[in-house]
Amino acid sequence: MAGKKKEEKKKAGKPDTARIKPEPVREEDLKERQKRVREIIRLLRRKYPGAKTALNFRTPFELLVATILAAQCTDERVNRVTSGLFEKYPAVEAFARADQKELENDIRSTGFFRNKARNIINLARTLVNEYGGRVPDSMEELVKLPGVARKTANIVLSSAFRKAEGIAVDTHVRRLSGRLGLSRQTQPERIERDLMAIVPREDWLDFNYLLVDHGRKVCQARKPLCSQCVIKHLCPSYEHFARKASGG
Ligand code: SF4
Repeated sequence: MAGKKKEEKKKAGKPDTARIKPEPVREEDLKERQKRVREIIRLLRRKYPGAKTALNFRTPFELLVATILAAQCTDERVNRVTSGLFEKYPAVEAFARADQKELENDIRSTGFFRNKARNIINLARTLVNEYGGRVPDSMEELVKLPGVARKTANIVLSSAFRKAEGIAVDTHVRRLSGRLGLSRQTQPERIERDLMAIVPREDWLDFNYLLVDHGRKVCQARKPLCSQCVIKHLCPSYEHFARKASGG
Protein backbone atom coordinates (compact mmCIF):
# COMPACT_ATOMS: atom_id res chain seq x y z
CA MET A 1 0.00 0.00 0.00
CA ALA A 2 2.81 2.39 1.03
CA GLY A 3 4.68 1.43 -2.14
CA LYS A 4 1.60 2.17 -4.17
CA LYS A 5 1.25 5.63 -2.59
CA LYS A 6 4.91 6.40 -3.31
CA GLU A 7 4.42 5.34 -6.88
CA GLU A 8 1.36 7.62 -7.20
CA LYS A 9 3.41 10.58 -5.93
CA LYS A 10 6.17 9.81 -8.37
CA LYS A 11 3.67 9.83 -11.18
CA ALA A 12 2.27 13.17 -9.95
CA GLY A 13 5.80 14.58 -10.30
CA LYS A 14 6.26 15.29 -6.58
CA PRO A 15 8.91 13.58 -4.45
CA ASP A 16 7.88 11.85 -1.22
CA THR A 17 9.10 14.50 1.22
CA ALA A 18 6.59 14.31 4.05
CA ARG A 19 9.02 12.27 6.12
CA ILE A 20 12.74 12.92 6.36
CA LYS A 21 14.96 10.06 7.43
CA PRO A 22 17.96 10.94 9.63
CA GLU A 23 21.42 10.08 8.32
CA PRO A 24 24.13 8.68 10.64
CA VAL A 25 26.65 11.30 11.86
CA ARG A 26 29.65 11.11 14.19
CA GLU A 27 28.54 11.38 17.82
CA GLU A 28 31.10 14.06 18.87
CA ASP A 29 30.38 16.15 15.80
CA LEU A 30 26.67 16.02 16.51
CA LYS A 31 27.16 16.96 20.18
CA GLU A 32 29.40 19.91 19.26
CA ARG A 33 26.85 21.25 16.77
CA GLN A 34 23.95 20.70 19.19
CA LYS A 35 25.74 22.70 21.88
CA ARG A 36 26.77 25.48 19.49
CA VAL A 37 23.34 25.82 17.90
CA ARG A 38 21.70 26.22 21.33
CA GLU A 39 24.01 29.16 22.04
CA ILE A 40 23.43 30.59 18.55
CA ILE A 41 19.66 30.46 19.13
CA ARG A 42 19.98 32.09 22.56
CA LEU A 43 22.01 34.99 21.19
CA LEU A 44 19.88 35.48 18.06
CA ARG A 45 16.70 35.43 20.16
CA ARG A 46 18.14 38.22 22.27
CA LYS A 47 19.15 40.19 19.18
CA TYR A 48 15.88 39.62 17.25
CA PRO A 49 13.12 39.27 19.86
CA GLY A 50 9.77 38.29 18.34
CA ALA A 51 11.28 37.14 15.02
CA LYS A 52 8.41 36.01 12.79
CA THR A 53 7.33 35.88 9.19
CA ALA A 54 7.30 39.27 7.49
CA LEU A 55 4.38 38.20 5.28
CA ASN A 56 0.98 39.69 6.14
CA PHE A 57 -1.90 37.20 6.49
CA ARG A 58 -5.15 36.71 8.39
CA THR A 59 -5.83 33.02 7.70
CA PRO A 60 -3.76 29.88 6.95
CA PHE A 61 -4.95 30.08 3.33
CA GLU A 62 -3.74 33.68 2.97
CA LEU A 63 -0.35 32.65 4.35
CA LEU A 64 -0.24 29.76 1.88
CA VAL A 65 -0.93 32.14 -1.03
CA ALA A 66 1.55 34.74 0.27
CA THR A 67 4.26 32.09 0.64
CA ILE A 68 3.72 30.86 -2.92
CA LEU A 69 3.95 34.47 -4.16
CA ALA A 70 7.13 35.04 -2.12
CA ALA A 71 9.17 32.59 -4.26
CA GLN A 72 11.86 34.68 -6.01
CA CYS A 73 10.26 37.87 -4.67
CA THR A 74 10.68 40.10 -1.62
CA ASP A 75 8.25 39.92 1.29
CA GLU A 76 7.64 43.69 0.98
CA ARG A 77 6.48 43.37 -2.60
CA VAL A 78 4.30 40.37 -1.74
CA ASN A 79 2.66 42.37 1.06
CA ARG A 80 1.95 45.24 -1.33
CA VAL A 81 0.30 42.81 -3.78
CA THR A 82 -1.66 40.78 -1.22
CA SER A 83 -3.20 43.84 0.46
CA GLY A 84 -5.36 44.35 -2.67
CA LEU A 85 -5.46 40.70 -3.70
CA PHE A 86 -7.09 39.48 -0.48
CA GLU A 87 -9.74 42.21 -0.81
CA LYS A 88 -10.51 41.17 -4.37
CA TYR A 89 -10.50 37.43 -3.55
CA PRO A 90 -11.68 37.33 0.06
CA ALA A 91 -11.76 33.53 0.48
CA VAL A 92 -10.48 30.28 -0.96
CA GLU A 93 -13.68 29.87 -3.04
CA ALA A 94 -13.00 33.16 -4.82
CA PHE A 95 -9.51 31.98 -5.82
CA ALA A 96 -10.99 28.65 -6.98
CA ARG A 97 -13.29 30.56 -9.36
CA ALA A 98 -10.59 33.05 -10.47
CA ASP A 99 -9.84 33.62 -14.12
CA GLN A 100 -6.24 32.54 -14.82
CA LYS A 101 -5.37 35.58 -16.99
CA GLU A 102 -6.89 38.04 -14.55
CA LEU A 103 -5.07 36.50 -11.58
CA GLU A 104 -1.82 36.56 -13.58
CA ASN A 105 -2.26 40.32 -14.00
CA ASP A 106 -3.10 40.77 -10.32
CA ILE A 107 0.16 39.12 -9.22
CA ARG A 108 2.37 40.03 -12.19
CA SER A 109 4.82 42.13 -10.17
CA THR A 110 5.82 39.14 -7.99
CA GLY A 111 7.46 37.39 -10.97
CA PHE A 112 6.84 33.89 -12.35
CA PHE A 113 3.21 34.99 -12.39
CA ARG A 114 1.90 32.35 -14.81
CA ASN A 115 3.09 29.43 -12.71
CA LYS A 116 2.10 31.10 -9.49
CA ALA A 117 -1.43 31.90 -10.77
CA ARG A 118 -1.88 28.35 -12.03
CA ASN A 119 -0.65 26.88 -8.72
CA ILE A 120 -2.86 29.15 -6.63
CA ILE A 121 -6.00 28.33 -8.65
CA ASN A 122 -5.25 24.58 -8.59
CA LEU A 123 -4.50 24.77 -4.90
CA ALA A 124 -7.75 26.63 -4.14
CA ARG A 125 -9.78 24.15 -6.22
CA THR A 126 -8.18 21.18 -4.43
CA LEU A 127 -8.90 22.73 -1.03
CA VAL A 128 -12.53 23.42 -1.98
CA ASN A 129 -13.12 20.01 -3.56
CA GLU A 130 -11.19 17.80 -1.16
CA TYR A 131 -10.84 19.66 2.14
CA GLY A 132 -14.08 21.62 2.44
CA GLY A 133 -12.17 24.86 1.78
CA ARG A 134 -9.89 24.39 4.79
CA VAL A 135 -6.09 24.22 4.81
CA PRO A 136 -4.92 20.91 6.33
CA ASP A 137 -2.57 21.20 9.31
CA SER A 138 -0.18 18.31 8.72
CA MET A 139 3.00 18.04 6.66
CA GLU A 140 1.73 14.83 5.12
CA GLU A 141 -1.34 16.51 3.64
CA LEU A 142 0.19 19.90 2.86
CA VAL A 143 2.96 18.54 0.62
CA LYS A 144 0.35 16.74 -1.47
CA LEU A 145 -1.25 20.06 -2.45
CA PRO A 146 -0.40 21.59 -5.84
CA GLY A 147 2.57 23.97 -5.65
CA VAL A 148 3.29 23.21 -1.98
CA ALA A 149 6.73 21.83 -1.06
CA ARG A 150 8.24 21.31 2.40
CA LYS A 151 9.46 24.91 2.79
CA THR A 152 5.99 26.37 2.21
CA ALA A 153 4.39 23.66 4.36
CA ASN A 154 6.81 24.38 7.22
CA ILE A 155 6.07 28.11 7.09
CA VAL A 156 2.30 27.52 7.14
CA LEU A 157 2.56 24.91 9.92
CA SER A 158 4.78 27.05 12.14
CA SER A 159 3.23 30.49 11.58
CA ALA A 160 -0.46 29.68 11.01
CA PHE A 161 -0.88 26.56 13.16
CA ARG A 162 2.08 26.86 15.60
CA LYS A 163 3.02 23.26 14.78
CA ALA A 164 6.63 22.11 14.56
CA GLU A 165 6.98 19.32 12.02
CA GLY A 166 10.20 20.55 10.41
CA ILE A 167 12.34 23.62 9.73
CA ALA A 168 11.73 25.82 6.69
CA VAL A 169 14.91 26.04 4.60
CA ASP A 170 15.01 29.11 2.37
CA THR A 171 17.91 30.96 0.82
CA HIS A 172 18.95 32.59 4.15
CA VAL A 173 18.75 29.35 6.14
CA ARG A 174 20.70 27.55 3.44
CA ARG A 175 23.46 30.19 3.36
CA LEU A 176 23.76 30.60 7.12
CA SER A 177 23.64 26.87 7.85
CA GLY A 178 26.66 26.46 5.58
CA ARG A 179 28.59 29.43 6.97
CA LEU A 180 27.87 28.41 10.56
CA GLY A 181 28.95 24.83 9.87
CA LEU A 182 25.55 23.43 10.85
CA SER A 183 25.17 21.52 7.59
CA ARG A 184 27.48 20.71 4.71
CA GLN A 185 24.57 19.82 2.46
CA THR A 186 23.29 21.97 -0.37
CA GLN A 187 19.83 20.48 -0.97
CA PRO A 188 17.12 22.04 1.21
CA GLU A 189 15.71 18.70 2.37
CA ARG A 190 19.13 17.44 3.45
CA ILE A 191 19.91 20.72 5.21
CA GLU A 192 16.57 20.45 7.00
CA ARG A 193 17.37 16.91 8.10
CA ASP A 194 20.75 18.06 9.52
CA LEU A 195 19.10 20.97 11.33
CA MET A 196 16.33 18.80 12.77
CA ALA A 197 19.03 16.60 14.33
CA ILE A 198 20.67 19.49 16.22
CA VAL A 199 18.05 22.21 16.82
CA PRO A 200 15.89 21.51 19.90
CA ARG A 201 12.33 20.79 18.80
CA GLU A 202 10.90 23.69 20.80
CA ASP A 203 13.03 26.03 18.65
CA TRP A 204 11.90 24.63 15.28
CA LEU A 205 9.01 27.11 15.15
CA ASP A 206 11.13 30.23 14.91
CA PHE A 207 14.60 28.97 13.93
CA ASN A 208 13.92 29.95 10.31
CA TYR A 209 12.87 33.48 11.28
CA LEU A 210 15.93 34.03 13.48
CA LEU A 211 18.27 33.05 10.64
CA VAL A 212 16.27 35.09 8.11
CA ASP A 213 16.53 38.23 10.30
CA HIS A 214 20.25 37.66 10.82
CA GLY A 215 20.76 36.90 7.13
CA ARG A 216 18.99 40.09 6.06
CA LYS A 217 20.58 42.41 8.60
CA VAL A 218 24.09 41.07 9.20
CA CYS A 219 25.08 37.84 7.45
CA GLN A 220 24.21 39.14 4.01
CA ALA A 221 24.92 37.08 0.91
CA ARG A 222 27.53 39.27 -0.77
CA LYS A 223 29.23 40.98 2.14
CA PRO A 224 28.53 39.65 5.60
CA LEU A 225 29.05 42.23 8.35
CA CYS A 226 31.10 39.84 10.48
CA SER A 227 32.58 42.50 12.76
CA GLN A 228 29.03 43.39 13.95
CA CYS A 229 27.91 39.78 14.32
CA VAL A 230 26.77 38.62 17.77
CA ILE A 231 27.57 34.99 16.97
CA LYS A 232 30.96 35.48 15.33
CA HIS A 233 32.73 33.56 18.13
CA LEU A 234 30.54 30.56 17.22
CA CYS A 235 31.04 30.84 13.47
CA PRO A 236 33.72 28.81 11.65
CA SER A 237 33.54 31.23 8.69
CA TYR A 238 34.39 34.35 10.70
CA GLU A 239 38.14 34.22 10.07
CA HIS A 240 37.67 33.57 6.36
CA PHE A 241 35.48 36.66 5.93
CA ALA A 242 37.63 38.78 8.27
CA ARG A 243 40.71 37.94 6.12
CA LYS A 244 38.78 38.76 2.97
CA ALA A 245 37.62 42.10 4.41
CA SER A 246 41.21 43.07 5.25
CA GLY A 247 42.29 42.16 1.72
CA GLY A 248 44.15 38.99 2.83
S1 SF4 B 1 30.56 35.73 11.59
FE1 SF4 B 1 30.09 36.48 9.54
S2 SF4 B 1 29.71 34.62 8.31
FE2 SF4 B 1 29.56 34.06 10.49
S3 SF4 B 1 27.38 34.24 10.98
FE3 SF4 B 1 28.36 36.16 11.53
S4 SF4 B 1 28.09 37.47 9.75
FE4 SF4 B 1 27.73 35.35 9.08
